[in-house]
Amino acid sequence: MKTKNLLSLFTLVVFAIMFWASASQAPIVVPRQFVLTKYSDVSGRKTAQDTIIKYTIPKFQLIDNTLQTQTKGGVTITCEIIPFNINKTVTKGNPKAFYRNPDKPDFDVTQTTNISGIEIKPEKVMFLVTIKNNQNRVLKLRDCAMVILMNNIQYSFPDPKVRLDWENTLVMSNFSTNVTIPGPSIRELDNPKSIEVFINDIPTEIDDAGNIKKRENFDWLFSCSSEEKTEKGTITYSYEETPVLTQQCQACSGRGSFSEIKLCPTCNGTGHYKGYDGNIHECYNCKGSGKVNVTTTCTSCRGLGIFKYPKSPLPPIDSQETWSYIDNVHVETIPAGLTVRIFNPQAKQYQDAGQTPRYVTSVFSESKRYPIIVIYNNQEVKIIPIDKSGKNIDEVKVDFSSGSPLIKKGTIVEIN
Ligand SMILES: [Zn+2]
Ligand SMILES: [Zn+2]
Repeated sequence: MKTKNLLSLFTLVVFAIMFWASASQAPIVVPRQFVLTKYSDVSGRKTAQDTIIKYTIPKFQLIDNTLQTQTKGGVTITCEIIPFNINKTVTKGNPKAFYRNPDKPDFDVTQTTNISGIEIKPEKVMFLVTIKNNQNRVLKLRDCAMVILMNNIQYSFPDPKVRLDWENTLVMSNFSTNVTIPGPSIRELDNPKSIEVFINDIPTEIDDAGNIKKRENFDWLFSCSSEEKTEKGTITYSYEETPVLTQQCQACSGRGSFSEIKLCPTCNGTGHYKGYDGNIHECYNCKGSGKVNVTTTCTSCRGLGIFKYPKSPLPPIDSQETWSYIDNVHVETIPAGLTVRIFNPQAKQYQDAGQTPRYVTSVFSESKRYPIIVIYNNQEVKIIPIDKSGKNIDEVKVDFSSGSPLIKKGTIVEIN
């Protein structure tokens, strides 16, 4: 008998405990997870670099006993080489795909390399020949020949027009004429030692009837060398952002979903149903219309409505951290209006989250739980949303009315 009573008492206690447990049991709060991806720092886009530009420039000099201006009979001829000019240039490269900024993933980035260099003008050795005719008769250059020798080998003019121009030149009596003769390209100048300009058979004496009485040859001998020069240059990089190419999803016309009017499955389209009480009720699902709007997500674009085609890659992944969070943790204080601070994993720091009462997100990494901070009279109270048994809860409540914090919900970890 005693044993039986004891047993029923025991049963009662067990039921009481079970009842109490089920009644006091708060809803189970399960933290959710997200992955925080950190990319390599490629915001360190390249800055300008100084460079040294090396180049060679040809140098010509008349050999000692050669006169620049020569007079023979009634003709004076000057032969000079037009000096070279050095101009700075910038060569713009082709834009190349560069890493996208992870904070602006919808923009492609291109990098363009701009290299400064120099340009030598003119690109050819140009002979400027000035012919002055001091005679009473016209001087026809078709009567004479011009020859250029490089290292004693005849240089043939690649352009037949040059010869034609020469042959068509007339120098009127007591006039002078300039003839510009393009010689070899400076790129082709393969370390020549000398350049010699010959003008042969110039009529230097013409009688009154126009008959040539005497012809003479003119020549100029230039020594040729090259001079190594340097110039300061730079390499600069320019970056351009353009929106990533997107295309509207054709399957859903960019809407991301389909909506369709269907017969209400609750009332089979009748708009009402017969209840257990035998009465006819208006259908709660379609509000009596018999039709419902069914929305389904587009499977082609997974609800985005567009397809994105980035040309630039994202930077290499540096690290990935898995974080857990509990959304909508209700923070309540007595008195209300206290500042709440929560940890922001992206920014890796605490940030103000407004005043109590307030819903906030509580985060924790694999190794650390970041408490919710409530500030009262310059005092920081750090609380984590777990109950006494260590279970996650979605509320935090602190009472400051006695002057010191009294935790009603949550677990205090620190007071500063
Ligand atoms: Zn219905
Ligand atoms: Zn779609």
